[in-house]
Amino acid sequence: MAEDCLFCKIASGQIPGDVVMQDEEAVAFRDINPQGPTHVLVIPRRHVGNAASVTPADAELVGRLVLMAARVAEQDGIQHSGYRLVFNVGAHGGESVPHLHLHLIGGRQLAWPPG
Ligand code: 5GP
Ligand code: ZN
Repeated sequence: MAEDCLFCKIASGQIPGDVVMQDEEAVAFRDINPQGPTHVLVIPRRHVGNAASVTPADAELVGRLVLMAARVAEQDGIQHSGYRLVFNVGAHGGESVPHLHLHLIGGRQLAWPPG
């Protein structure tokens, strides 16, 4: 756990989160500022900085985030209507919390390219 990391604290239960799915490696919880009817963040329990700092040793972990996101999409009933999975990286990417998180956004038509 990284010191003073918001998402490490949510993953450990130190700060409450609206958790919708979890296992030994990952936790999925609803975004506090949802950008759609479904907006869930899927994070590793272990602190990983962002998608740019992922190492080959994290490859399975990242795969597990994608698998969990797809299961949460099914749980929310948006697996057929579709959804978006996003890792924001750095300033231009819009990253604001430096703990790896996969956004699952759906439940409405999303624009592409993003603004
Ligand atoms: P980023 O901008 O880093 O890609 O995404 C960070 C996300 O975390 C944002 O969508 C933001 O709304 C969400 N967020 C920030 N603080 C909290 C919090 O305390 N709880 C929850 N559930 N989401 C948060
Ligand atoms: Zn962290």
